[in-house]
Amino acid sequence: MTDLDIFQTHSVVVGAGVVGLAVARALARQGREVIVLESGPRFGEGVSSRNSEVVHAGIYYPEDSLKAELCVKGRQDLYEFCGSRHLPIHKCGKWIVAQGPEVERLAAIKAQASRNGVDLHWWEGPSFKSRLPEVNAHAALFSPETGIVDSHAMMLALLGELEDAGGQLICQAPVEQVVSEPAGYRIRVGGQAPCWLQASQLVNSAGLGAIALAQRLEGLPDQCIPRPFYARGVYFSYPGKHPFRSLVYPVPEPGGLGIHLTLDMAGQVRFGPDVEWVETPDFTVDGQRASQFAASVRRWWPRLDERRLQPAYAGVRPKLHGPEDSFADFQIQGQADHGLPGLVNLFGIESPGLTASLAIADRVADLLGQ
Ligand SMILES: Cc1cc2nc3c(=O)[nH]c(=O)nc-3n(C[C@H](O)[C@H](O)[C@H](O)COP(=O)(O)OP(=O)(O)OC[C@H]3O[C@@H](n4cnc5c(N)ncnc54)[C@H](O)[C@@H]3O)c2cc1C
Repeated sequence: MTDLDIFQTHSVVVGAGVVGLAVARALARQGREVIVLESGPRFGEGVSSRNSEVVHAGIYYPEDSLKAELCVKGRQDLYEFCGSRHLPIHKCGKWIVAQGPEVERLAAIKAQASRNGVDLHWWEGPSFKSRLPEVNAHAALFSPETGIVDSHAMMLALLGELEDAGGQLICQAPVEQVVSEPAGYRIRVGGQAPCWLQASQLVNSAGLGAIALAQRLEGLPDQCIPRPFYARGVYFSYPGKHPFRSLVYPVPEPGGLGIHLTLDMAGQVRFGPDVEWVETPDFTVDGQRASQFAASVRRWWPRLDERRLQPAYAGVRPKLHGPEDSFADFQIQGQADHGLPGLVNLFGIESPGLTASLAIADRVADLLGQ
C-alpha cells in the first residue's frame, strides 16, 4: 500500500447508479466534499439502466415497510424534481387487470394501497370496456399516480447537480477493499490508476455489488451482511402500433409484478420483466421466451401479435430473499445497525429503487448527519 498515493475526502459513495448519484448529490448539497467511485466506464450502466422506468405509486408494499414509505415519498419528490427541471416524466397511469378468481385479489391490493396512502379506482363492466376495449378483464384498478420517467436524463441531472455542488464522479474506479479505522475508512481503489482514499463517511451503494463490497469491508460484523439472491427479468419490445396510453399490469406473481406492458417516453410498448432466479447476475436474453411472453400477455390482450415481439434486454434484481419468500424490505444500514460511524450500506435496492431514489438519498443524508 505504501507505493500508492493516498487521497483525502469527506464522503465517498461507491456506485454511480441512480441511488448512488442521488445520495452523492444530497451529501454535496449539504456542503460535504463528495467523491463517487464507479467501477464501470460510465455512470448508470448497472441496474439503473435495465429496468422498466416506471414511477411506482407505492401500491403493494406492507404499510410499515421502507419500500412503502420511500416509494410514496420518492415518487412525489421525483415528479417535483423532473417537473421543475423539465426532464422527461409522464404521469400516464396504470391499470391492474384481473379475471375470474383474481378479482378477489384486487380488493386486497386496493386495501393495501389505501393503507399506504395511495388512491386506486375500481373499474368494471361497460365503463371499463369503454376505456380498454381490447383488454380481457372482469375488473380492474386504475392508479392515476403511476408514471414513466427517462432514468438516464434523471441521472444526468443528478450528476450535473452533484458537480455544481463541488462533488465529482470517478469512473473505472472499482473499490476493492475497505478498512475501518478510528478516523474513518481507508478505501483501496483498483483499475487503471490504483490508489487509496481516506474518507470520514462511506456509502455502499453498489447495487448488485453491494454485498460483495460489504464482504471486503474489514470491521463490518458478519451478521450485518445479508445473503444475496438474484432474479433476472427479461424484456421484449413490441415495435409498431398499439392501442395503449397507460401501463397495463396483471395481478402480481411471486417475486415480481407479472409480465406487464410499459411504455417508453416515445410511447413504444415493451413487455416484461418476467422472474427467473439465477445463481449470479447474468443479463442474457433468451429469444425463445417470446412464446411464454405471448401466452402470458394474451390472457389479457388476446390480439397480441407474437411475431412482433423482439428480445430487448434483461435486468437482474438484487434481492434479499429467495423464491420461497415473497417479500424483503430495502436494508439501509447505519451506525445503529452495524456500529461503525459514518458508514451506510444499501442492500436489496430492487424495485421501487428508481422511484424511491431521492427519498433514499434523504434518508442516508439524515443517517450521516446524526
Ligand atoms: C428488471 C428490473 C425492473 C425494475 N423496474 C423498476 C421500475 O420500473 N421502477 C422503479 O422504481 N425501480 C425499478 N427497478 C429497480 C431500480 O432499477 C433499482 O432499484 C435502481 O436502479 C438501483 O440503483 P442503484 O444505484 O442502487 O444500483 P445500480 O444502478 O446497479 O448502481 C450500482 C453501481 O455500482 C457499481 N459498482 C458495483 N460494485 C462496485 C465497486 N466495488 N466499486 C465501484 N463501483 C461498483 C456498478 O457498476 C453500478 O454502476 C427495477 C429493477 C430491475 C432489475
